[in-house]
Amino acid sequence: MIRFGPSGCGEEFLEEGYASLLQVPDFIKSKGLNAFEYSFGHGYRMREELARTAGKLFQKNDIKVSIHAPYYINFANPEEEMYQKSEGYLRTGIKFLRYFGNADHLVFHTGSCGKIERKQCIALATKRLEETMDRFEEEKLLEGIWLCPETMGKPLQIGTYKEIVDLCKLNSHLVPTFDFGHINALTQGSLKGKEEYKHILDYAIEILGKDRVNNCHIHFSKIQYGEKGEIRHLNFEDEIYGPDYEPLMEVLADYNLEARVISESAGMQPRDAKIMKDFYDKLKKH
Ligand SMILES: [Zn+2]
Repeated sequence: MIRFGPSGCGEEFLEEGYASLLQVPDFIKSKGLNAFEYSFGHGYRMREELARTAGKLFQKNDIKVSIHAPYYINFANPEEEMYQKSEGYLRTGIKFLRYFGNADHLVFHTGSCGKIERKQCIALATKRLEETMDRFEEEKLLEGIWLCPETMGKPLQIGTYKEIVDLCKLNSHLVPTFDFGHINALTQGSLKGKEEYKHILDYAIEILGKDRVNNCHIHFSKIQYGEKGEIRHLNFEDEIYGPDYEPLMEVLADYNLEARVISESAGMQPRDAKIMKDFYDKLKKH
């Protein structure tokens, strides 16, 4: 089942007088949404007990939770210590998925190339991610969950859509996070209509198969970009940078993809998630 929700709760949450994580499930439900992404981008600062309590409420409201792992993950940093830490951040992310219970996607940034040549950098990240996934598999950590490397918006980061799809070949528990705002920013506004979205999803389906792509994660927001890619997230009021969500919804409907669609609009994530969901639901009614 395709699901829509916000990453974080945006400005509406506070404006409407909400304050705590335990109120988020009601808030999401009241907006007519059924997914939520919690960002641990700046570290895992949450008690296990709170995650477990919140998880029960998400479950009660039929809201699936995704987690965004810390931004400091970097499988391409040559330092062994950084590799250990990166694996550790994924490991903790998996623990939090289990605490929440009703949670199944762990989104992460693979790494950044810095001073190493890109080919070498990707080879290093690939080798390490494979070893990490093998270890997780041996420890039986992966049942029922997906680890989701994300397409990125800046040239030095690992994360063109092809790089991400190729990384996902390493293990059947890897699925892409297609951040279409990032893809559009990195390619100077290349996502113009249905054809461009199809091109990306077709590539993924060809390499990974429809079943796996069905479980993919999608981040969507309009993003301001410059010569060096992503500058900042915008919301649906933007008419300059794009990309447009309508053609993506049409492709998702045509393909019957069961993806998780998460809005990362600046400040307006729940509203823009609902705009996408309503547009999609209307397409499906016809
Ligand atoms: Zn991200």
